[in-house]
Amino acid sequence: MDPCNVFLVDSDGSKRSYTANLNQKLAAFLRSISILTGRETTLISLGEQFYGRDYNDYTLRQLGFRQGIDVELMSDFKGGGGPTIPFMFNSLSQKKIINFGSAPYLRVVCRGVSFFGVCKNRRCEAFDSEAICTLGYGEFDIRDTVECKVKCPVCYQKMLNSCNFGFYMAKWKIKGVKGVKVGGGKFKFEDESWDEHFTTFKEGDNIDWQYMTLTVSNTRTS
Ligand SMILES: [Zn+2]
Repeated sequence: MDPCNVFLVDSDGSKRSYTANLNQKLAAFLRSISILTGRETTLISLGEQFYGRDYNDYTLRQLGFRQGIDVELMSDFKGGGGPTIPFMFNSLSQKKIINFGSAPYLRVVCRGVSFFGVCKNRRCEAFDSEAICTLGYGEFDIRDTVECKVKCPVCYQKMLNSCNFGFYMAKWKIKGVKGVKVGGGKFKFEDESWDEHFTTFKEGDNIDWQYMTLTVSNTRTS
């Protein structure tokens, strides 16, 4: 251990002092600061001799860190704990109610939340057509759900282009933060759907989201 105090200059200009071990690699040092501050931290200024190299593999001593040096860092809050790369999903601004009598294929939805998606498995009879995957009741992280959990009801392979959902016999709460490009606003919505209809949102109205969480519960038990 070869400790030294390093000043980190934050993106807002404020300075903080951290104890660094000069034998530690930069990647490990930045990770420890991210854990301490709860912010994603990256180095933004370093000597010219390191340009174009992957300096995460260098030790702090090799990078020229020494007692009293100022190091400029960029840090971002990890809003909601998710990564900051946005994902595409419906804007949820226009509700659409479908009565079951007028849309027979929707009778296959079960209780709770159902996600729309497109099956891309050539051997599946649902290939290239929109299908519905019901996931029932519970808590959902929407980024994680559309990336990993929306499966074709026929072949059980992951479906693509899942940007919309709908509800049947359910109460639901949605919380989210929109992407920076669309203003980054906070979003909250609560509603419920009863026996005779399926509630969804207008198709094709997609925007970037930073994160979205959904809680779905049974209307009859609550
Ligand atoms: Zn399929």
